[in-house]
Amino acid sequence: METTSDTSDVFGIRRSRSTRVAARPGAPPPAPRFGDLPYRHMVEQAVDGLLVVANDDGRIIYCNPAAATLLKSSRESLTGSAFGLPVTAANDSAPVEIFTGGEPVFVDMHTRPISWQGRGATLVSLHDVSARRSAEARIEMQAKALEAAANGIYIIEKGGVISWANSAFAAMTGYGADDLCGQPVAILAPPSPDDTAHAELWTCLITGETWKGRIVNLRKDGSSYTAEQTVTPITDLTGRLSHFVAIQEDITERLKTEGELIRLTEYDALTGLPNRHVFMDRIKSAIERASRTKAMVAVMVLDLDNFKAVNNTLGHEVGDQLLAGIARRISGLMRSSDTLARLGGDDYGILFENVTDMAAASRTVRSFLNSFREPFAIDGHMLEATASIGIAAYPKDDIDPPSLLRHAELAMYQAKAEGRDAFRYFDREMDADIRRRVQLEADLRHAVEGNQLWLAYQPQIDLASGKIVGAEALIRWNHPERGLISPGEFIPIAEASSLILPIGDWIIEEICRQHMIWQVQGLPELRLGFNVSGVQFRQKGLFDKVAATLARSGLSAKMLDIGITETVAMERTGSVQQNVDRLTAAGISMSMDDFGTGYSSLSNLQAFPVCRLKVDGSFVKGIGVKRDDEKIVEAVVRLGQSMGLTVVAEGVETLAQLQFLKGLGCDEIQGYYFSKPLAPEDFRRFVAGFELKLPS
Ligand code: C2E
Ligand code: CA
Repeated sequence: METTSDTSDVFGIRRSRSTRVAARPGAPPPAPRFGDLPYRHMVEQAVDGLLVVANDDGRIIYCNPAAATLLKSSRESLTGSAFGLPVTAANDSAPVEIFTGGEPVFVDMHTRPISWQGRGATLVSLHDVSARRSAEARIEMQAKALEAAANGIYIIEKGGVISWANSAFAAMTGYGADDLCGQPVAILAPPSPDDTAHAELWTCLITGETWKGRIVNLRKDGSSYTAEQTVTPITDLTGRLSHFVAIQEDITERLKTEGELIRLTEYDALTGLPNRHVFMDRIKSAIERASRTKAMVAVMVLDLDNFKAVNNTLGHEVGDQLLAGIARRISGLMRSSDTLARLGGDDYGILFENVTDMAAASRTVRSFLNSFREPFAIDGHMLEATASIGIAAYPKDDIDPPSLLRHAELAMYQAKAEGRDAFRYFDREMDADIRRRVQLEADLRHAVEGNQLWLAYQPQIDLASGKIVGAEALIRWNHPERGLISPGEFIPIAEASSLILPIGDWIIEEICRQHMIWQVQGLPELRLGFNVSGVQFRQKGLFDKVAATLARSGLSAKMLDIGITETVAMERTGSVQQNVDRLTAAGISMSMDDFGTGYSSLSNLQAFPVCRLKVDGSFVKGIGVKRDDEKIVEAVVRLGQSMGLTVVAEGVETLAQLQFLKGLGCDEIQGYYFSKPLAPEDFRRFVAGFELKLPS
């Protein structure tokens, strides 16, 4: 411990070398030298430190106990030592920092000239302000922290006036921190806040609670931003509300990112259109509005015709571009209040709100279809597209979004069934159609066990020999209530529900059984053709089933002919390919049915091991009527001949058709001209009595 020399100071000023005064523990307090002044007791008991410093030598003449405590020294050693502070003999006051070891002590020092026992002296009073100073330092530090905070912080006086704001808040709002002070907090609120947050905020605050929530604020330049805000009411010492402290975080950017995420989940990436989910929401809102305004809402489904063919032949890249192009064309023709959405695949949803005139809606829909007439230039291809559109209206057709969409879909299927490139309004009939389909499917499940199915056989005549060389087996269904139902009606249902599989098995069994009966009845052996659908070709066990049935019946494989469609021929996937290979390897022949009606190319035909090419009845019908059809018939016959295939014409009803085909060198004829498909016994009689007689 340092000791003070005679001349040393008892304390140092800030930045001066600290000097410590040695304490003499246990020493008795020095006797006051100023006698029995009446104020002695008062001075000795004073809270502030009091010292008397002689003006001539600057030494302490007197110090009270409080001064000794403050200076952390004893009165004895202080008395007589140099005071060390420049004291003026005038009334003066100055803040002083005293270093006496440990924490510095802050004091306010006041000096007064006095006369002490005849000497000129200075009365020094020392008032300890350390506690206040540290409180001030803490507040200063907190203020700096608030100022430096990344969040916007501002203080609002009870009267709604901003009294302080940090730089972050100034930056967020575009005001200078000083501009904000004194401004009513209302300048931050948008003119007519459409959120309820502002009202809610004040209601909460006046009850003394902290409010936390999302708020939209206005910047100085008039733009707005969204903030996450906490406002806490502050009360004064008496417990009365005095001001509010608000802390804000600008979340505009974050919301934007969130918004982009929502876009990704709600919008289709390829076309940028809303997806099915959003479309359903929009229908719902439109219905809610329409129920108030008594307007109509039209919900539509647009499906491209033959889009699969584009994807299959030109690739998905081109398909994608076509889908986007279609979206652009439709969008260009719509009002801003309408919605175009992508429902998936090549299905688009269209919503017209506020429809007052259905005829006007029809015109717009027609303009969509017409806009596709102009080919789409994609990747060097000029693509033509057509679409089928179904329309359902609120409130006429239904009142809930899922039903409206379902009805629109139904109407769209109807438009497709009626030849595509058209639009159809939903009507109750269509709904009835669907119900009928569902009922038919249920009934069809019992058709096989119920012996309601049978096969009709239509003879095929070879023009060169004049003989019946084969027959096509065509399925018939005797419905217990509805009578004979055409395969055109129930085969698609059977295919869609996989019922075609048990039915297909039954057909093969039935053909083999019938063949054996005819053999016993002495009929010449005929090639029996039957249709096998894609669903059947896709099943793994098709070949094994056919082979087993053939083996049981003793029918030779070369007497069977399977009619396939172009769609099957195009689909050369694993199971289809394997079945085709094994069936043909076993000696069963294949006929390409309905050639020219699908989208198959020559390459499909070449790649497929077919023996016969069937000219579709729809083209035969045009012979003598439509030159285009005649050209197609001619081309198909020539194509078949050039590939070494037997060409069979079906649907031949007139002699003119027959002669045209004969002239082309067509090999076989099937059709009403010779015979309708016949029940087995009728067929047997027909074959037995047949003789080709053609007028020359
Ligand atoms: P498809 O294979 O093209 O069969 C030819 C259709 O034309 C048959 O109709 C036949 O009755 C009809 N037809 C034959 N000659 C003439 C004619 O001169 N004029 C007219 N206008 N029509 C003629 P059907 O029997 O109603 O069969 C319709 C379609 O149902 C068939 O078309 C075929 O795709 C399918 N189908 C029929 N039977 C079966 C079957 O056993 N299995 C499968 N998977 N499909 C079948
Ligand atoms: Ca056919």
